[in-house]
Amino acid sequence: MRILITGGAGYVGSAALRHIKAAGHEVLAYDNLSEGHAASVDGAPLVVGDIADTGLLTQTMQEFEAEAVMHFAASTNVGESTVDPDLYYRNNVEGTRSVLNAMRGAGVRRLLFSSTCSTYGFAGAGKPMDENTPQIPMNPYACSKMAVEWMIRDFADAYGFGFTLLRYFNASGACPSGRFGEAHNPETHLIPLIFQVALGQRDGIKIFGTDYDTPDGTCIRDYVHVDDLASAHLLAIEATEAETRAAYNIGTGRGYSVKEVIAACEAACGHPIAAQEAPRRAGDPDVLVAAPAKIKAELGWAPKYQSLSEIVETAWAWHQAHSNGYTGAE
Ligand code: UDP
Repeated sequence: MRILITGGAGYVGSAALRHIKAAGHEVLAYDNLSEGHAASVDGAPLVVGDIADTGLLTQTMQEFEAEAVMHFAASTNVGESTVDPDLYYRNNVEGTRSVLNAMRGAGVRRLLFSSTCSTYGFAGAGKPMDENTPQIPMNPYACSKMAVEWMIRDFADAYGFGFTLLRYFNASGACPSGRFGEAHNPETHLIPLIFQVALGQRDGIKIFGTDYDTPDGTCIRDYVHVDDLASAHLLAIEATEAETRAAYNIGTGRGYSVKEVIAACEAACGHPIAAQEAPRRAGDPDVLVAAPAKIKAELGWAPKYQSLSEIVETAWAWHQAHSNGYTGAE
């Protein structure tokens, strides 16, 4: 299949791109490189462009003769979304409308969309969440993704294409080769920040909130290895037909608190990590853990990384080898 991947030079998008290419599909990354890194596409074709540019996107789909689109390009920081919701509605909602119209223009009839567990918000009440959990997004990032899910359904029905929504839990870890991994600027995610402390690049990590309704008072998340997310994308795109309307949660089914993540990272790197208790970050639910039974049963997805220690070991190998991210690699 010929698959155009928006955000294909980003952390999750490039992991999916490399995995799907290795499985024999033709891929093309479309990325404005605001967050992505050209080196992460590992030699695959890359068109530098913005998803807001419907004309370039349509032309790229037509020239590439795309048969499917995987749409990753998005703004993804919960905290940032609470102070700049305009950016989130522009990039995520309007940006996706542009992607969908480019698909219409180019006659592409299969879509995979990167959605998020945060569309469930508090709805899981601390329990693992399946796809029938009510979606009650509680921050602008999650609201923008929810709005896109609705838009995709409406467009698919009216304009005739199939879609699969993949609701990720916390993407984490790095390619075991140590060549590809997570590199944001500025970095806001927990595991990379912890390893920046281990590398002496920052003084300590702030624990955002210690009064949550969890055993140790810190937020619980389901950390899923980025290569396992990638394998889910391959299965999902191969199963998506023009009449498909599917949604899957992708997580391990096991949650870890912020304090447990810090301890796992300390074990991986052999350094104590200075941590300081800090106020809650706006928009964070207490617990987000997947019930991934549906994707396992329907698509045969089987995550390779089951434990947090294995995941953070791959992240540590990447951060040690690339203490400045992709700088120097492109
Ligand atoms: N977190 C934290 N300190 C940080 C960054 C994150 O305590 O410096 C917490 C955050 O509040 C959340 C968890 O770590 O509970 C995972 O956050 P991250 O930003 O990595 O991913 P998100 O869950 O927002 O997708």
